[in-house]
Amino acid sequence: MSAVEVHLLPANKDNYVGVVREPGSGLVLVVDPGEKGVAPEFLAARGWRPSLILNTHHHWDHVNGNDELRSGFQAQLIASAIDGAKIANVDRVLSDGERLAFGAETIRAIAVPGHTLGHTAFHFENSGLVFTGDTLFGMGCGRLFEGTPEQMWGSLRRLMGLPDETRVYCGHEYTLANARFAARIEPDNEAITERTEEAERLRGGNQPTLPSTIGQEKRTNPFLRAGRTDMRRRLNLPESAPDSSVFARLREMKDDWG
Ligand code: ZN
Ligand code: FE
Repeated sequence: MSAVEVHLLPANKDNYVGVVREPGSGLVLVVDPGEKGVAPEFLAARGWRPSLILNTHHHWDHVNGNDELRSGFQAQLIASAIDGAKIANVDRVLSDGERLAFGAETIRAIAVPGHTLGHTAFHFENSGLVFTGDTLFGMGCGRLFEGTPEQMWGSLRRLMGLPDETRVYCGHEYTLANARFAARIEPDNEAITERTEEAERLRGGNQPTLPSTIGQEKRTNPFLRAGRTDMRRRLNLPESAPDSSVFARLREMKDDWG
């Protein structure tokens, strides 16, 4: 089978709305329609009718366009049980590990609590890509609004368990700002320097810096590098410090930094 095709539509200040089409069936879905009008305009230009809406979490900048897609296209709205309780008109709840058929594609829900308690990532298993919402960003991760550092670190570990070539689609275009923090933490990491230059080039041309890959994030995202011995040294933490406390320290530093 051929892979799904993904379109990232800029929305709000720095969000991305994902539009995914499965070429075999012609089925279309929308991930996190966070601004009204953005997905409908794109869909109308192509004559596409989405059958599904996936919400990674309940924040307004990810759900604001749900209703117009539900009423305009009879699209089914899917979210986790926990965050779904805070989202209007959810048609179907998808729990951790549950799968959903989308033409020849299979979508698996991965519970990734931390940013919110019911945050879910959507893994397109056949095509090898994942929508990470506000859990994993290019060279960064989401703030801990509801969960603990332990929960968020566990969630990032789950995403790190996906194959390295898995393409990563994030909820926001934050890569360049995150790159400056990453370079402050690891000034001698050449992969970070190279990725920063690439991101500057892409943003200069108003292009998305995404998707990245899980492998690239492992090399350049400081939050995925909290398990490393050298990260403890850089942060003046004892070698015995648990990974989640190294992660917590990085998250605090990023919060203070902006
Ligand atoms: Zn959010
Ligand atoms: Fe967001």
